[in-house]
Amino acid sequence: MRQVGLTPTAQRLAVLGYLEENRTHPTAEEVYCGVKDGLPSLTKATVYNVLDALKKADLIQELTIARKAAQYDYNPVFHPHFLCRVCGSLYDIDVPSPIRTGDTIRGHLVEAVQTYFYGVCAHCHPDADKNGSKRKERENA
Ligand SMILES: [Zn+2]
Ligand SMILES: [Zn+2]
Repeated sequence: MRQVGLTPTAQRLAVLGYLEENRTHPTAEEVYCGVKDGLPSLTKATVYNVLDALKKADLIQELTIARKAAQYDYNPVFHPHFLCRVCGSLYDIDVPSPIRTGDTIRGHLVEAVQTYFYGVCAHCHPDADKNGSKRKERENA
Protein backbone atom coordinates (compact mmCIF):
# COMPACT_ATOMS: atom_id res chain seq x y z
CA MET A 1 0.00 0.00 0.00
CA ARG A 2 2.88 2.37 0.77
CA GLN A 3 4.31 1.69 -2.68
CA VAL A 4 1.30 3.38 -4.23
CA GLY A 5 1.46 6.35 -1.85
CA LEU A 6 -1.30 5.26 0.51
CA THR A 7 -0.87 5.26 4.27
CA PRO A 8 -1.94 1.79 5.43
CA THR A 9 -4.54 2.80 8.02
CA ALA A 10 -6.47 0.18 9.98
CA GLN A 11 -9.58 0.91 7.90
CA ARG A 12 -7.79 0.60 4.58
CA LEU A 13 -6.11 -2.65 5.61
CA ALA A 14 -9.41 -4.08 6.88
CA VAL A 15 -11.26 -3.21 3.66
CA LEU A 16 -8.49 -4.52 1.42
CA GLY A 17 -8.21 -7.67 3.53
CA TYR A 18 -11.96 -8.22 3.29
CA LEU A 19 -11.88 -7.92 -0.50
CA GLU A 20 -8.93 -10.29 -0.67
CA GLU A 21 -10.86 -12.93 1.28
CA ASN A 22 -14.21 -12.32 -0.39
CA ARG A 23 -13.80 -12.63 -4.13
CA THR A 24 -17.56 -12.50 -4.68
CA HIS A 25 -17.40 -8.83 -5.73
CA PRO A 26 -19.09 -7.37 -2.64
CA THR A 27 -20.86 -4.01 -2.64
CA ALA A 28 -19.76 -1.17 -0.33
CA GLU A 29 -22.66 -2.12 1.95
CA GLU A 30 -21.42 -5.71 2.17
CA VAL A 31 -17.86 -4.56 2.80
CA TYR A 32 -19.13 -2.32 5.60
CA CYS A 33 -21.06 -5.19 7.22
CA GLY A 34 -18.05 -7.45 6.86
CA VAL A 35 -15.48 -5.20 8.52
CA LYS A 36 -17.48 -3.11 11.02
CA ASP A 37 -17.22 -5.65 13.85
CA GLY A 38 -13.46 -5.32 13.93
CA LEU A 39 -13.61 -1.52 13.70
CA PRO A 40 -16.36 -0.20 16.01
CA SER A 41 -15.83 3.46 15.02
CA LEU A 42 -16.17 2.72 11.31
CA THR A 43 -18.89 4.56 9.38
CA LYS A 44 -20.34 3.76 5.98
CA ALA A 45 -18.97 7.05 4.66
CA THR A 46 -15.47 5.96 5.67
CA VAL A 47 -15.91 2.68 3.80
CA TYR A 48 -16.90 4.59 0.66
CA ASN A 49 -13.87 6.87 1.06
CA VAL A 50 -11.54 3.93 1.63
CA LEU A 51 -12.90 2.06 -1.41
CA ASP A 52 -12.45 5.20 -3.48
CA ALA A 53 -8.85 5.65 -2.32
CA LEU A 54 -8.00 1.99 -3.00
CA LYS A 55 -9.61 2.26 -6.42
CA LYS A 56 -7.69 5.42 -7.31
CA ALA A 57 -4.46 3.72 -6.23
CA ASP A 58 -5.32 0.80 -8.59
CA LEU A 59 -5.27 -1.66 -5.71
CA ILE A 60 -8.83 -2.76 -6.44
CA GLN A 61 -11.32 -2.16 -9.20
CA GLU A 62 -14.86 -0.91 -9.13
CA LEU A 63 -17.40 -2.78 -11.21
CA THR A 64 -20.67 -1.24 -12.31
CA ILE A 65 -22.13 -4.24 -14.10
CA ALA A 66 -25.08 -4.88 -11.84
CA ARG A 67 -27.51 -1.99 -11.71
CA LYS A 68 -28.11 -2.16 -7.96
CA ALA A 69 -24.75 -0.89 -6.66
CA ALA A 70 -21.08 -0.72 -7.54
CA GLN A 71 -19.15 -3.84 -6.58
CA TYR A 72 -15.52 -4.11 -5.60
CA ASP A 73 -12.93 -6.54 -6.87
CA TYR A 74 -9.64 -7.36 -5.15
CA ASN A 75 -8.12 -8.02 -8.55
CA PRO A 76 -7.36 -4.63 -10.15
CA VAL A 77 -6.34 -6.22 -13.45
CA PHE A 78 -8.93 -6.46 -16.20
CA HIS A 79 -10.81 -9.75 -16.33
CA PRO A 80 -14.21 -10.58 -17.80
CA HIS A 81 -17.24 -11.13 -15.56
CA PHE A 82 -20.47 -13.04 -15.78
CA LEU A 83 -23.57 -11.66 -14.09
CA CYS A 84 -26.39 -14.08 -13.30
CA ARG A 85 -29.77 -12.45 -13.78
CA VAL A 86 -31.41 -15.02 -11.47
CA CYS A 87 -29.29 -14.97 -8.32
CA GLY A 88 -27.32 -11.79 -9.01
CA SER A 89 -23.95 -13.48 -8.50
CA LEU A 90 -21.01 -11.95 -10.31
CA TYR A 91 -18.39 -14.45 -11.41
CA ASP A 92 -14.85 -14.06 -12.70
CA ILE A 93 -14.72 -15.65 -16.13
CA ASP A 94 -11.37 -16.79 -17.32
CA VAL A 95 -11.56 -16.27 -21.07
CA PRO A 96 -8.93 -14.45 -23.07
CA SER A 97 -9.78 -11.03 -24.44
CA PRO A 98 -8.62 -10.14 -27.93
CA ILE A 99 -8.07 -6.53 -26.85
CA ARG A 100 -6.11 -5.47 -23.79
CA THR A 101 -5.23 -2.27 -21.98
CA GLY A 102 -2.47 -0.50 -23.87
CA ASP A 103 -3.52 -1.85 -27.28
CA THR A 104 -4.54 0.55 -29.98
CA ILE A 105 -7.65 0.10 -32.09
CA ARG A 106 -7.57 2.14 -35.31
CA GLY A 107 -5.26 4.63 -33.61
CA HIS A 108 -7.31 4.83 -30.38
CA LEU A 109 -5.39 3.91 -27.26
CA VAL A 110 -7.29 1.48 -25.00
CA GLU A 111 -7.01 2.51 -21.35
CA ALA A 112 -9.72 0.26 -19.92
CA VAL A 113 -11.54 -2.84 -21.04
CA GLN A 114 -14.83 -3.98 -19.56
CA THR A 115 -16.28 -7.27 -20.65
CA TYR A 116 -19.51 -8.48 -19.12
CA PHE A 117 -21.57 -11.51 -19.90
CA TYR A 118 -25.20 -11.61 -18.75
CA GLY A 119 -27.29 -14.72 -18.35
CA VAL A 120 -28.10 -17.58 -16.05
CA CYS A 121 -25.23 -19.05 -14.05
CA ALA A 122 -24.42 -22.77 -13.87
CA HIS A 123 -25.79 -22.88 -10.34
CA CYS A 124 -29.21 -21.49 -11.34
CA HIS A 125 -29.34 -23.29 -14.67
CA PRO A 126 -28.07 -26.88 -14.32
CA ASP A 127 -28.01 -27.37 -18.09
CA ALA A 128 -26.05 -24.21 -18.81
CA ASP A 129 -22.70 -25.89 -18.31
CA LYS A 130 -23.65 -28.78 -20.54
CA ASN A 131 -24.68 -26.44 -23.35
CA GLY A 132 -21.50 -24.46 -22.85
CA SER A 133 -19.28 -27.48 -23.30
CA LYS A 134 -21.31 -28.60 -26.32
CA ARG A 135 -20.74 -25.24 -27.91
CA LYS A 136 -17.05 -25.49 -27.12
CA GLU A 137 -16.90 -28.90 -28.77
CA ARG A 138 -18.48 -27.43 -31.89
CA GLU A 139 -16.01 -24.54 -31.92
CA ASN A 140 -13.08 -26.88 -31.59
CA ALA A 141 -14.35 -29.22 -34.30
ZN1 LIG B 1 -27.26 -17.71 -10.59
ZN1 LIG C 1 -13.65 -10.08 -10.77
